[in-house]
Amino acid sequence: MTPGQPDKQRDKNMERRKKIIITIDGWSSCGKSTLAKQLAKELDYVYIDSGAMYRAITLYFLRNHVDWTKSAAVEKALANISLEFISNEKSGQAEIYLNGENVEYVIRDLVVAEKVSDVAAVKAVREFAVHQQQQMGKKKGIVMDGRDIGTVVFPKAELKIFMTADNAIRVERRFKELFVKNPNITLDEVKNNLEMRDYIDSHREVSPLRQAEDAIVLDNSHLTMKQQLDIAMDWVRERLH
Ligand code: C5P
Repeated sequence: MTPGQPDKQRDKNMERRKKIIITIDGWSSCGKSTLAKQLAKELDYVYIDSGAMYRAITLYFLRNHVDWTKSAAVEKALANISLEFISNEKSGQAEIYLNGENVEYVIRDLVVAEKVSDVAAVKAVREFAVHQQQQMGKKKGIVMDGRDIGTVVFPKAELKIFMTADNAIRVERRFKELFVKNPNITLDEVKNNLEMRDYIDSHREVSPLRQAEDAIVLDNSHLTMKQQLDIAMDWVRERLH
């Protein structure tokens, strides 16, 4: 460290040199991806939305009428699935491609959301996704959000955040997001979907959603985006120094 260097510059240099893995797990729609994107931008890290992978696999299963209760059908389908994250030059955000097709937007539909937790509970599907997620983290410098990232995918991650927010606030946020694309959607549909996914995600046999023992809880019910980023960046700095 150069003596006399201003603190801010010194922090920036430190952030550039050392790379860590940041995991963000938690309940559906509590702002995990928003925080993950903020952190990735601030630190110039790669952001990976692991939920997008489960959603893309679900989309493939639905389109190809794959019966995910049959292991032979699942194995055969997975062998035909290629997932890739490619950066959108305009937004600077990585978007998911399923066999070469950009499916970033179609996977957010309620049709996919209604089935994704069942598909994500299938062991072979999880093995397929987790293996790819671990490869992406090999060079560190990554922020990944999901349900089992701190517990299963990167159990040795330097910073693990477990996010939560009041139920009513989560429903409201998701409703606003989906309403833009589908004005026919109701608050009840959104509420039921969140409750169902949270239940299945936290009760499944393989890698259920739970807080890692060494994760820090971040309740963002009453935080602004700037406040949540400031809190998380303090945790990052503690690990970089
Ligand atoms: O994060 P998102 O809500 O888009 O994730 C969609 C679904 O994918 C979750 O409800 C969960 O069933 C599944 N998922 C998972 N493990 C992850 C990420 C997502 O099981 N790491």
